[in-house]
Amino acid sequence: MARRPKHDHYDVIVIGSGMGGLGTAAYLAQAGYKVLVVERHYRAGGYTHSFRRHQYTFDAGVRIVAGAEHGLLSDLLEAAGLTGKLPFIRLDEVYAAWYPEHQFTVPRQVQGLVQTYTDLFPEQEPNIKALVAEMEAVYEAMIEMIHARDPFQVLSNPMIMKYRSLTFHEMLHSFLTDEQAIYTFAALCGYYGTSPKTGSAMFFAYAIMSYFKSEIYYCKGGFQQMANAFVERIESLGGEVCLSNEVQQIVVEDKQVKGVRLQTGEYVTAPLVVCNGDMLKMIHNLVGEEHFPSRYIKKISKLAVAFSAFEVFIGTDLPLEEMGLAHETFLYTDYNYEKLYDNHHNLKELGAEGVCMLAISIPSLVDPSLAPEGKKTIALTTFAPYDIGEPWADAKPKFEQALIKLAEKVIPGLSEHLDFVESGTPLTMERFTNNSFGSIYGWNQNMEQMISRPQHETPIKGLHVAGHWTDPGGGVVSVLLSGYKLSQKILTKEQSS
Ligand SMILES: Cc1cc2nc3c(=O)[nH]c(=O)nc-3n(C[C@H](O)[C@H](O)[C@H](O)COP(=O)(O)OP(=O)(O)OC[C@H]3O[C@@H](n4cnc5c(N)ncnc54)[C@H](O)[C@@H]3O)c2cc1C
Repeated sequence: MARRPKHDHYDVIVIGSGMGGLGTAAYLAQAGYKVLVVERHYRAGGYTHSFRRHQYTFDAGVRIVAGAEHGLLSDLLEAAGLTGKLPFIRLDEVYAAWYPEHQFTVPRQVQGLVQTYTDLFPEQEPNIKALVAEMEAVYEAMIEMIHARDPFQVLSNPMIMKYRSLTFHEMLHSFLTDEQAIYTFAALCGYYGTSPKTGSAMFFAYAIMSYFKSEIYYCKGGFQQMANAFVERIESLGGEVCLSNEVQQIVVEDKQVKGVRLQTGEYVTAPLVVCNGDMLKMIHNLVGEEHFPSRYIKKISKLAVAFSAFEVFIGTDLPLEEMGLAHETFLYTDYNYEKLYDNHHNLKELGAEGVCMLAISIPSLVDPSLAPEGKKTIALTTFAPYDIGEPWADAKPKFEQALIKLAEKVIPGLSEHLDFVESGTPLTMERFTNNSFGSIYGWNQNMEQMISRPQHETPIKGLHVAGHWTDPGGGVVSVLLSGYKLSQKILTKEQSS
């Protein structure tokens, strides 16, 4: 793929090829826009990037997506002209969870969710059924809001009215009366980077139910395939995707965007620039904060950035397919999600010994093509702060050991069967994706920030944002939705002008 653009003027320039950027580019290219995407990495995709080591293929970030065949993602793929173009594999189990005294696997569909928790807590059966029915109602209301022409009209929906200022913890407490049932019901909290105590009921209920209502999927060959499919689509529509090139400046004159300056020296102009990369760096490094109103800078400066992560990528010869393991297992050494999250916010003080939650992903169980014959790939992931109180180069081996040791609760003998090991720290995340502090979801997805995320428009005319630093939030489907919504706004504005 080319490094330099072919032209010096485009209808729209997209900075970054995360799924939010590729989505925006594909939707606008379909509408006839002349599109340029500029990506600093040598491969497109941002966190959907997959990499190969010693015949193993690993996903740098994404583990699963919801709704690939029937649901929001399938609608978004259809809108990009990509229906049927991606080899998704539906997963039969949504997740497994390991708590000190409870180990269980949750099969697909709402029935699987209800059955698992009523088997675990039979005396809570009516409460669990009522909670799940309520979460389904919240999910339907959120879907209505996503599809609404005017989302403000849906704000009067009784479910939205009821839950818009409640945390998921409050929602759980209003249905369940057993502490362990409450904590274990939120086992998926290990995905979202925020505890149910601080996370919105609407966000958790929607995200959890989307996995059961619209199923979850792995992308055969790794999630890089998804990014590649979007790149091919953009190019087939006449767009360009330049890799290994960086936007070093967004040029603004008279409060209006004019174009971008590239690492390779070109100045490329466009009336529309969409930044899919880090928003803090966009404001402070690419544009310059003097171009923004002070109230905008003040508002942004109040927002907290999401957690980063520490990951261990493993190739093993253990026969994992014989061990009854799920695609994704959440391991918690305590039930109390607030305590688990507090520990991880304090890892700077606690060190590697403080790691108390872990996600163990084994994509090679459903996709053997990721590993050589007789071998398997595993990714261990935990939330980690950017600042660990010592150089990450020194902390890295300690964290790698701690994660492998913890994973041995679920996969006995793992440390004796390491055919390949490589770890990534928050600095790795930042280096490869340019996300400030190695953030894996843009802004923290706590309750206050879910409703106060910066909009796609900025105070600078023609400069927009798509991806996990804007509405609606982190995750592949959300960032694609941000690209779709932004493209619709741009097209509507053009039609009305
Ligand atoms: C470990 C981990 C696990 C995850 N698991 C899941 C999961 O299972 N399911 C899920 O849906 N989501 C998951 N996520 C979250 C999800 O991957 C992200 O929220 C989403 O992919 C972010 O997409 P984005 O479009 O915002 O951009 P990003 O993926 O952040 O990409 C931004 C791109 O912009 C480029 N860029 C930045 N600045 C410039 C510049 N100046 N010039 C040129 N290029 C630039 C970067 O190089 C990068 O490629 C996970 C993330 C991580 C890290």
